[in-house]
Amino acid sequence: MQKDKKNTISLHDGAKIGVIGGGPAGSFFSFFAFNLAKRMGLTIGIDIYEIKDFTKTGPAGCNHCGGIVSESLIQMLTNEGIVLPQQIIRRGIESYTLHLEIGTTVIDNISPEHSIASIFRGSGPLGSTVTTLQSFDGYLLDLCEKKGARIFREKVTDIEREPDGINLIAGNTRRKYDLIVGAVGLNPKTLKMFQKVIPDFIPPVTTKTYISEYYLGSETVTRHFGNSMHVFLLNLPGIKFGALIPKGVYITLVLLGTEINKEIIDSFLSSEPVIACFPEGMELKNMTPCQCFPSINITNARNPYGDRVVLIGDSSSSKLFKNGIGAAYITGKAAANTVFSDGIGKANFRKSFQPVLSNLNVDNAIGKLIFWVSTLIQKSLFLKGVLFNMVLKEQAKERGKREMSSLLWDTFTGSAPYKNIFIRTLNPILIATLSWNIFTGFVKSALASRKRNNKPTNPQA
Ligand SMILES: Cc1cc2nc3c(=O)[nH]c(=O)nc-3n(C[C@H](O)[C@H](O)[C@H](O)COP(=O)(O)OP(=O)(O)OC[C@H]3O[C@@H](n4cnc5c(N)ncnc54)[C@H](O)[C@@H]3O)c2cc1C
Repeated sequence: MQKDKKNTISLHDGAKIGVIGGGPAGSFFSFFAFNLAKRMGLTIGIDIYEIKDFTKTGPAGCNHCGGIVSESLIQMLTNEGIVLPQQIIRRGIESYTLHLEIGTTVIDNISPEHSIASIFRGSGPLGSTVTTLQSFDGYLLDLCEKKGARIFREKVTDIEREPDGINLIAGNTRRKYDLIVGAVGLNPKTLKMFQKVIPDFIPPVTTKTYISEYYLGSETVTRHFGNSMHVFLLNLPGIKFGALIPKGVYITLVLLGTEINKEIIDSFLSSEPVIACFPEGMELKNMTPCQCFPSINITNARNPYGDRVVLIGDSSSSKLFKNGIGAAYITGKAAANTVFSDGIGKANFRKSFQPVLSNLNVDNAIGKLIFWVSTLIQKSLFLKGVLFNMVLKEQAKERGKREMSSLLWDTFTGSAPYKNIFIRTLNPILIATLSWNIFTGFVKSALASRKRNNKPTNPQA
């Protein structure tokens, strides 16, 4: 291990890397680290510590997620040689159904090649007996094991810095590593542990969300949901986004907002548009789903690296509300590139890894603006009417020319960076069409209200 004049530290042949967390970020880092080491003729050892067993159903094997893998991520993974097998993909999502208080419309994806996949992170909901379910996280971790990673099904409980390495403590064992990679998601205790070795590390701020999985059976899922993700823009307090995602014989409900609680969930489940999606008489409120209240990033971490240690995935910077697995891929790959092309010192991470985090952080700032506008629309029946009419009219156009529909698709699925979505909102044709729809909508509602006011009152009443 060498520290050169520029105060950088680099990996040597035979170096050992300890990865805490075998979710997507930990697996992506390990996958790329093995590839890069091979390319550079280095032999490295990677130990991945993961408490969950992804072959299990329910919480013991699940990393709590809506389970949408965006089309851009599927394409990037395929280019990297990670081709998701059919047993993992529960449904290819080909359209989304937009539900507003004023109506419902089905919007096809931008092109047939742009379909997204719904997956289970573990081996399915608690009590699932479906034997064909295969875990997304388990598949990625297996890939790393095949490349040579040792998997320890152990919880890391402490980290200690030494002059020439970092110790990980798991159970009664202490192992020393040249580099530690923190891919621990949003686990608050483990994140706090990192402050021992990176004193200026500030973990991400999070909020509580909700996920539940309902068993409906294959026929009901196909008949009522097909290959469509159902998205709800309803004016319900506390909810920024609600979606029902078909997954084989299950439907996954995802609610994002601010500190989702039972009252907010009940208001969503009792709303007309949601009830209308299910067979008559089926009341979700009376069913007992596999459910959880996982945390989600609303800000990114600060200073998630130091000498010989780097945090990736949700533990560093994610994508606001969407495509967190895509962000785990971006940060996992960027950290591996930094380690092999620059080094493992704080200065190396600041130089080569920080710009990637900063990019995500800027994109999330734009994402916040987009969600702010979307909340405004959600609260206004008038704006929702305008949006609904625009989307309806667009369905008569060719797929590639449906600007508003494709903006909504990318916002709901997380397929494009928020910056890209924002730039597309500046399209003059879209602005002109939107302005025209707002104007005509305003005129229509003014005329309607005038007509109502002029209606003669019944003299006998
Ligand atoms: C409601 C909701 C819906 C979402 N929907 C989507 C979606 O549809 N698509 C999408 O792309 N993203 C979605 N996300 C985001 C996505 O789940 C995360 O961004 C993604 O899981 C981050 O991956 P990660 O590897 O960083 O962390 P995680 O997936 O959380 O993995 C961290 C791993 O570290 C392990 N670990 C933690 N501490 C220790 C320890 N001390 N010792 C050993 N192991 C440890 C954990 O067991 C876990 O397996 C959603 C998130 C939420 C909350």
